[in-house]
Amino acid sequence: MNLIKDFISLFYPRLCYICENSLFKNEVVVCTRCALHLPETNFHLDEDNPVSRVFWGRVEIERATALYYYKKGGSVQTLIHQLKYHGHKEIGIYLGQLYGAQLMEVEDYKTMDMIIPIPLHKKKLKQRGFNQAETFARGLAGTMEKELVTDNVYRAIATSTQTKKGRYKRWENVSDIFRVREPENLANKHILLVDDVITTGATMEACLQTLKKINGTKLSVASIAFASH
Ligand SMILES: [Zn+2]
Repeated sequence: MNLIKDFISLFYPRLCYICENSLFKNEVVVCTRCALHLPETNFHLDEDNPVSRVFWGRVEIERATALYYYKKGGSVQTLIHQLKYHGHKEIGIYLGQLYGAQLMEVEDYKTMDMIIPIPLHKKKLKQRGFNQAETFARGLAGTMEKELVTDNVYRAIATSTQTKKGRYKRWENVSDIFRVREPENLANKHILLVDDVITTGATMEACLQTLKKINGTKLSVASIAFASH
C-alpha cells in the first residue's frame, strides 16, 4: 500500500500551502520549514492577552485566544485564503488538531464542555459550500474530545458586522444577528466559540451576547488568527 502511495506521490506530490514545495511523507498541510516560521501567539498561556482585551467592557468571557498573528501578505493570510476561498478544508482541520493539543495543556480549556463555530448565514453557506470556522472547530473538537455543536446556533441576519459601512459603524442591537434553536441544551455549559480570524471582534461579540442570555453559560473564544488593527 505504501509503495502505491509513494508511486502516486511521484506524480501528484502534495504541496506545502505556503511555499508550494513538495511535502515529505510525515508532513501535513505545511512543510516543516514553513511551520517553524508561523507566528504563534501563545495567547492561551496568558489570561490577559490582546484577544481577551478586544472584549473588555463589551461582554464577559472566561478565556480568549488565537493560534497565530495575522499580517497582510503573511503566510497565515495565505493559509486562511487557501482554506476559505479554495475550499482546502484540511487546513482548518489540521490547525484545529494542532491547537487543540496545545489548549489541552491549559486547565480552563481542558475543562470546557463544547465547541461551537460561528455560523454563516445560510445564503453564504450555500455560496461557499462550507463554514471555514467549522473546519477549525472540528479539528479542535476531535483532539480535545469535546462535543462539536453546529446546528443549534444560527445566523439570522446576513450582513457582515465587519464590512458594514456608513451610518451604522456597529449594530445597535447586535443580539439580533444570531439566534439559538434549543437554548436548554447550552444552559450551564462552558462553550468555546470559534472563528477563523478575529479583527474587531464585532461578529464574535454579537454571538457571545446571544449565548450570554442563556442561563449559566460560560463563554470562551478561539480563532485561527488575530489581526490587530
Ligand atoms: Zn513550506
